[in-house]
Amino acid sequence: MDPLIVIGGGIAGVTCAKTFSIDRPNHRVILVSASAVVKTIANLKTLGRSIDMFDVIEQNANSLKSSNLQVLMNKKVIRLDSNGHRIQLDDGQWLKYSKLCICTGAKPRTIKVDDQDARQFIRYIRDTQTAKYFTKLLAGSRRIIVAGNGGIATEVVYAVENVEIIWAIRETTIGAVFFDAGAAKFFTEFLNDHGTTTKQETTGKPIKRARFGQIDIDDNLFKNEFGIALGPDWSQGLNLKGRESRKKVMIETKVEIVNVYRTIESIPDIISNKMDLDKNGPWNIYVELTNGKIFGCDMIIVAIGVTPNSDVFVDDKNYLSLQLATDKGILIDREMRTNLNDIYAAGDVCTVNWPQSSHWFQMRLWTQARQMGFYAAKCIQWHMNLINSDNPNLYFNFDVFAHVTQFFGFRTILLGLYDGQKMNTDDYKILCRVIPREVYIKVILKNGQMKGAILIGDNNLEETFEFLIYNQIDLTRFGDHLLDDHLDVEDFFD
Ligand code: FAD
Repeated sequence: MDPLIVIGGGIAGVTCAKTFSIDRPNHRVILVSASAVVKTIANLKTLGRSIDMFDVIEQNANSLKSSNLQVLMNKKVIRLDSNGHRIQLDDGQWLKYSKLCICTGAKPRTIKVDDQDARQFIRYIRDTQTAKYFTKLLAGSRRIIVAGNGGIATEVVYAVENVEIIWAIRETTIGAVFFDAGAAKFFTEFLNDHGTTTKQETTGKPIKRARFGQIDIDDNLFKNEFGIALGPDWSQGLNLKGRESRKKVMIETKVEIVNVYRTIESIPDIISNKMDLDKNGPWNIYVELTNGKIFGCDMIIVAIGVTPNSDVFVDDKNYLSLQLATDKGILIDREMRTNLNDIYAAGDVCTVNWPQSSHWFQMRLWTQARQMGFYAAKCIQWHMNLINSDNPNLYFNFDVFAHVTQFFGFRTILLGLYDGQKMNTDDYKILCRVIPREVYIKVILKNGQMKGAILIGDNNLEETFEFLIYNQIDLTRFGDHLLDDHLDVEDFFD
C-alpha cells in the first residue's frame, strides 16, 4: 500500500504524521517539509476540556524519524496530481500516496509598495528567519511603523525597546483581534513602560506559562522562504532594541498604509502635508496613511494577517483543483476531507466548511493547528477502515473556542464567543472585573448563559468558565454579581 503523505513540518503536519505513525506502526508515513526544522509540542498541560498549554519546540526534522515515519526535509511540493494519487517535489521526483494530508500553513499578507527601492525597509514576520532579519534593521532604527492589530503586531509593540513606534491600526482600539476596548485600556499603560516596568515588577509575581523554545539553528538550514510559523515566544532571545535611548509609542487609529516612498522628493506634490514632514530626518522611507498623514521612519513591520499557502495545489490547470474558500483556505468537511478523493487538509492552510458549534469559530492559531492535525490523523485511519480505528467523532474537539497566550507579560485566556462574535451587540450583557495591573476578567452573558470570556492575569477561572460555556448553565440567580469578589465561582461549580 502507498504511504500516507503529510505535507508541512509545522504543528499541524507534525502532529498528524506523528499521531498516525504511532497509532499505526505497520503503515508507512512520509512527512515532506520545505525546511530542515519542524515544529513539535512538549509539556502539554490541560487546563480544561479544550484549554491546552504547551511548549512549541523547533527540532531538526531528522529527530522525528521512526521505523514507519520517513521525513523528507528541504523538499518543496510543487504539484499535485490527484487522479494519479501523486505529488511532485521540487527535485522532480514524484511520490505516490494512499492518503494525503496538506498542512502547508499560511504566509503573511503583504502591502502594495510601488517603489522597489523602498521594499528593503519592510519586514513581514513569519518565522524564525524573518524574525532574525527584522532585528538587524531594528538595531539601526530610531523610528518604526508597526502595521496590524493582531497578536503578532501587539507582541512586536510590546517587545521592542529603545525606538519610537507608530502603531498603525485599522480599528479604534489596540489588539482588536483578541481583546475589547476594556482590555485594550488595561494593557495600554504597559505600552511605553516595557523595559522599565514589566508585569513581574508591578505585581511582584513571576509569569507562569509555557514557553516556545527555539533550537539554535544554523541559518543555512533554511533553504528557502517556506519557514515554520512562530508562536508567542518568537521574541525570546532576540535583541529587539533600536538606537534611541527610550521607547515611545504613538497609535494612529482607523488607518491603513496607502503607499511607501523612498525619499521626500518622490512623494507627489499633491499630498498636502508633504511640507510638514518633521525635520528629524532623513528617514529610510516615508509612509503615507489613509488619514493623509505621512511619517518618516526607518522600517515598517507588517503583521496584517495571513493567507493560506494553497497556491501550489490549485494553479496547475492540467490537474484537478482543490476547492478554496474566499480567504484561499482549502475547504474541509467535518472529517477534514477536501473536495478531492483521499486528500485532507489541516492547520492554517484550511478553512472549515462544516456547520460550526455555537461557541466555536476558526482562527489561525497553534491550538487549532494541533487539534486539527491530531483529528485529521484519526479521521484518516477511520476512512482507511483500519482495524480498531475509533469513530473520529470521539475526537472532535471544536465545540468551544479556547486559546491560551500571553500579552504584555500577562497570561491571557480567551473562551467561546469572547468578543461577542456571532451575536448582535444588544443581544448580550457584559460583566467585567478589573484589578489594575493585575487582573482583567470579562464575561459575556446571553439569556443568563455564559457565551464567552476573557481572562487576563492569574485567576484560575478558566476551567469553571469553560464548563459554564459548554453546558450553558443558567446563571440568572447570580444577577450581575457573578464576578463579585466575595463570590467564589470556582468553588460554587466545583
Ligand atoms: P506552519 O507552522 O506555518 O507550517 C507550515 C509548514 O508547511 C512549514 O513547515 C512549511 O515549510 C511547509 N510548507 C509550506 N509550503 C510547502 C510546500 N509547498 N511543500 C512542502 N512544505 C511546505 N498562534 C498562536 O496560537 N498563538 C500565538 O501567540 C501566535 N503567535 C504567532 C506569532 C507569529 C510571529 C506568527 C507568525 C504566528 C503566530 N501564531 C500564533 C500562529 C501560529 O504560529 C500558526 O497558527 C500555526 O503555527 C500554524 O501551524 P501550521 O502547522 O498550520 O502551519
